[in-house]
Amino acid sequence: MNLEASTSELQHLDSHHHLHPFTDPKAILKDGARVITRADGIYLWDSNGEKILDAMAGLWCVNVGYGRENLAKVAYEQLQVLPYYNSFFKTTTPPAIALAKKLAEITPEGFNHVFFTNSGSEANDTVMRTVRRYWRVQDKPEKRVIISRKEAYHGSTVAAASLGGQSFAHEMDGLPIPDIAHIDHPYWYGKGGDLSLDEFGLKTAQCLETKIKEIGPDKVAAFIGEPIQGAGGVVVPPDTYWPEIQRICKKYGILLIADEVICGFGRTGKWFGSETFGIKPDMMPIAKGLSSGYLPIGGVMMHDRVMDVLIEKGGDFAHGFTYSGHPVSCAVALENIKIIEDEKLVEKVANETGPYLKKRWQEFESHPIVGEVRNVGLLGAIELVENKEKRQFFPSDKKVGDACKTFCFENNLVMRALKDTMVVSPPLTMTVEQIDEMTDLVKLCLDLTAEKFGIK
Ligand SMILES: *Cc1c(COP(=O)(O)O)cnc(C)c1O
Repeated sequence: MNLEASTSELQHLDSHHHLHPFTDPKAILKDGARVITRADGIYLWDSNGEKILDAMAGLWCVNVGYGRENLAKVAYEQLQVLPYYNSFFKTTTPPAIALAKKLAEITPEGFNHVFFTNSGSEANDTVMRTVRRYWRVQDKPEKRVIISRKEAYHGSTVAAASLGGQSFAHEMDGLPIPDIAHIDHPYWYGKGGDLSLDEFGLKTAQCLETKIKEIGPDKVAAFIGEPIQGAGGVVVPPDTYWPEIQRICKKYGILLIADEVICGFGRTGKWFGSETFGIKPDMMPIAKGLSSGYLPIGGVMMHDRVMDVLIEKGGDFAHGFTYSGHPVSCAVALENIKIIEDEKLVEKVANETGPYLKKRWQEFESHPIVGEVRNVGLLGAIELVENKEKRQFFPSDKKVGDACKTFCFENNLVMRALKDTMVVSPPLTMTVEQIDEMTDLVKLCLDLTAEKFGIK
C-alpha cells in the first residue's frame, strides 16, 4: 500500500473496507476518518501534517506517552529470541514469569497471581467464568448472578458488554445475557437531587443491598465496578460509596471485583484505583495502562482468597487464550512498568500534575456552560449544562457534547464527549506546561460551544 497516498485516497479506502468500532459506517462514508500517522509524547500527527494534543492518551491507555524507543527495542529483541509460545498445559516463558512476579509486587497485598488475556474485555469474560467456577467448586453452583451498575463499561465481548450498563450497547443485539443485574451508579451531579454528596453515596451503595435481597443472597456471586466509571462519564463516587459497597459485599459473602482497566497503573495518583478509594477487591481486571497500549495485553489479578480455592478445589481451569501471556506483550508490559517506576509517574500524578490539573480546571467552575468539574489524578470531566444555577442539562437532541467535540477536533485537541460530559485522560507524562496548553485549548472549545448555544 502506498503510504504517501493522499488523505482523501486513504479515507476512501478506509471507508470502503474497514468497519470501525463504535462508529456509524454511513457517517464514515460521508465524512471520512481522520488518519493518524505518527505520534510522540502527548502529540499525534495526522495525514495532513496537523499536530494534535492527545488529551485521551489514545483510549485512556498510553500512560507513558508515545514514542518510547525502549518499548520498541524490547519488543524487537523478544521477537528475535522467542516471538511466541503459549502458557497452556504446564508450559511458560521467561517474560510471562517476570511480568507475573512484577504485578504481584506492585498490586495491593494478597494479589499474587495473574491470569493473562489480550484485552480488558477478555479480562472481564475471565472474571465471569472464574467467579462462577469459584462458587461451583465450593458446592454453590446456584450462586451465579453478578451485579453491575448502570453506565458501567467493562468491554465489548458478549459477557463484558452484558456486564456493562450502557443501554445503547445492550440494544445493539439484545443483551444482557441472563444472571446479570444492574443497579444505580453514584452519579451525584446528574442524579443526586437535593441529597448531599455523602448521603447520595450511601444511598446508591445501598441499592446493592436491596438488589441482593431481591435476588436472594444465595444466588448472588459477585459485584463488579470501576473505582471511577470511565466511559460512563468519569463518574467519581462520593467518599461514602465504596466503604458501604465493601461492607455489603462482606456481609453477604459475595466477591468484589474492581475493574482497574482505566484506573490502574497510576491514573488516579496511586498504582491502582482501589488504593485511592480504599477498596479491598477479590479480583482486579487490568489492561490499557499495563502496556500503555504499545501491544495488546490484559489480565485478571486474583487475590489469595480466590486462588486458594482454585488451587485446593478447582481442578483444571478450562479457560485460556492462544495469546495468554504472549512473550512479546509481556516483555513490553514489563518495560512499561519499569518506565512508570523509573520516572516516578505515579508520584508525579499524585503530587504534581494531578493537583495542578485540578487547580487549573477549577477556573472552569465559573464558566457559564459548565455545571460541574471533576478531577482525580489525571482524569478530568466537565459537565456542559444549559442552566448552571438550576443544574439543568441540555435536551439530548441538541447534541452539545458532540458540538464541543467538533470544536476540539477543529482545534487539534482530542477530548472525548460522553453525552454532554467532556472528559480527558492524558498520558501520565504530561508536564505542567502541557497542562496549561491543554487547559487553554479546552477553554477555547468551551467558549465556542457556549457561543454556539447562546449561553452567557
Ligand atoms: C476499556 C475498558 C475495558 C475493555 O478493555 P478492552 O481492552 O477494550 O477490551 C474494560 N473495562 C474498562 C473499565 C475499560 O475502560
